Amino acid sequence: MKTVHVSTGKPYDIYIERGILDLCGAYVKKLSKAEKAVVITDSNVAPLYKWRILNSLEQHGLSVKTFVYPAGEQSKHLGTISEIYKVLADFGMTRKDVIIALGGGVCGDMAGFAAATYLRGIDFVQVPTSLLAQVDSSVGGKTGVDLPQGKNLVGAFHQPIAVLIDPDTLGTLSDAFIADGMGEVIKYGCIKDAGFFASLEGGDALEHIDDVIETCVSIKRDVVSRDEKEAGERMLLNFGHTLGHAIEKLHGFSGMTHGMAVAVGMVLIARAGERSGVTQAGTADRIIALCERYGLPVSDPATPAEMAQAAKGDKKTAGSKINLVVLKAIGESFILQLPTDELEAFISPE
Ligand code: MG
Repeated sequence: MKTVHVSTGKPYDIYIERGILDLCGAYVKKLSKAEKAVVITDSNVAPLYKWRILNSLEQHGLSVKTFVYPAGEQSKHLGTISEIYKVLADFGMTRKDVIIALGGGVCGDMAGFAAATYLRGIDFVQVPTSLLAQVDSSVGGKTGVDLPQGKNLVGAFHQPIAVLIDPDTLGTLSDAFIADGMGEVIKYGCIKDAGFFASLEGGDALEHIDDVIETCVSIKRDVVSRDEKEAGERMLLNFGHTLGHAIEKLHGFSGMTHGMAVAVGMVLIARAGERSGVTQAGTADRIIALCERYGLPVSDPATPAEMAQAAKGDKKTAGSKINLVVLKAIGESFILQLPTDELEAFISPE
């Protein structure tokens, strides 16, 4: 088993082990005084893993209820949160009880937000089952839901008491879901770890995915521990995301997954950085080659003007200046502050 310790305000551990789903109850018993647990999961994940989690919790003496919502980002709204509150209240969940988030990024965000707000905050355990959630969204304590006006506009920082990662769950994912997570995996190499990026170039990430997950969560852990509330360094995790979010929005949040859009965003920013002389020549070509290898797109038909316009609505680009994450080289990133109205020119090929 691999363990990554996270020393945020409320410290916790990330456990990476094949078969750890069946140990969920043991971890809950060890880490909390919970007598009840509500497992929150979606309609895709429930038939695959729900019973393993339920059995494990019940074997350790917990009373358990399950809440299953329709899989997909369209469920990530306050209406679903209201339904979750109803289940929690009707089941008589108290401050010492625990929520289990079993699923991908949407599940972790919603279950985490319910845990952050119900009774002003109860414990929760992240059991991420998608590559994207395992390498990225389950770590860092960000929780929340979408509003009709935009993604993740309502939320809270709330750290889990543990993250249980079972790499065996990746075996049931389609290639598109794996690619979605690989967008973030490649991002970690780009912003912090040239050696890791080179190892992705030199081999097949899926053949040593346990190590890949450990490296990614360790990088995120380091960044998040130094900047829990996103005042500075944590912004580096947004490499490729300003344009990525804009592209997702231009696609109406369908057809283009988060990881795919981030891949395009990373390529566009690396190219722009090379043109303006801040990024080492050849960086974009290396990112393109790696993204293509994992089935990720590297361009989009949207024009720079359309992307810049869409980026203006992003909560991270509010105001007259925009904090853009750019690379000096593979493995070295920094924040470039740009007047928002210069974004279009910055990303336009001349
Ligand atoms: Mg992301």
